Amino acid sequence: MHDALSSALAGSEGSRVKALFQPIIDVQSGMVTGFEALARLQSDTLGMVSPLEFIPLAEKNRLIIALDEQMLEKSCKFLKKLDEKGHHRLSVAVNVSALHLLHPDFIPRVTDTISRLQVNAERIDIEITESVFASDYDACNRIISRLQQLGMKVSIDDFGAGYSSLARQKSLRVDCLKIDKFFIDQLLSTEPDKRLTGDIISMAHKLGYNVVAEGVEYESQLEYLKENKCDRFQGFLIAKPLDEADALEFIEKNGKKHSV
Ligand code: C2E
Ligand code: CA
Ligand code: CA
Repeated sequence: MHDALSSALAGSEGSRVKALFQPIIDVQSGMVTGFEALARLQSDTLGMVSPLEFIPLAEKNRLIIALDEQMLEKSCKFLKKLDEKGHHRLSVAVNVSALHLLHPDFIPRVTDTISRLQVNAERIDIEITESVFASDYDACNRIISRLQQLGMKVSIDDFGAGYSSLARQKSLRVDCLKIDKFFIDQLLSTEPDKRLTGDIISMAHKLGYNVVAEGVEYESQLEYLKENKCDRFQGFLIAKPLDEADALEFIEKNGKKHSV
């Protein structure tokens, strides 16, 4: 798989990196607010490979930096297509691995891509996983602040799943917490008075964060999120990650009443 991944990143024949886009929806209004870009490896020999398989390998071989950069580039191009269709306010969330975030070239390269493709930085959300907690705190905060100064929003992905705690989150100055799917699944299996999800949402709000719920598959989960004032959600209930053409079609069908 290493060969397929390196040749995809080098743009050789036989395999390529593909970006899918999953809609993100405002819980209360049902409006589409943007998309999350999710990577796939498409290889002639291996077929469509899930990021759960190739991301750990890419991190091990530091290929993740080239992958993330390609995904940012594809996301910027997707934003241009949304613009062409008149959707000037939709955002795209891009996943960035801790290794990439802490690379000295990260900020200059991001700045270069955004200015080269003439995209408004305010329409880009950077998602980082909690593994940044394992790294240098001050360095992370400096990079996060720099992204914010450039106009981007920064989210903590998979919140609650790993190293994080709200207390530590307070000193990591991000804009948004994405609650891990575990807490959304828990809504189906746990007695109402033992559910933690609503408490996480209200604590996150008290600390000033925007909250996104991931992996929403059932109407009952969405109802709970509405009652508990979650801001946005994504999940198979509304749409799976879509290829670019389907994502544009989705916004044409659902976006007029949704996006501004
Ligand atoms: P993630 O960032 O937490 O992305 C959400 C994952 O949940 C995606 O899996 C998405 O397809 C899946 N998902 C969304 N809604 C539902 C739902 O309702 N039910 C279920 N069962 N799953 C749902 P995916 O696309 O396989 O990506 C897995 C992980 O790989 C991502 O998790 C992210 O950590 C990583 N990843 C994906 N693309 C990139 C990338 O471009 N760069 C980096 N560094 N990591 C990436
Ligand atoms: Ca993510
Ligand atoms: Ca996540």
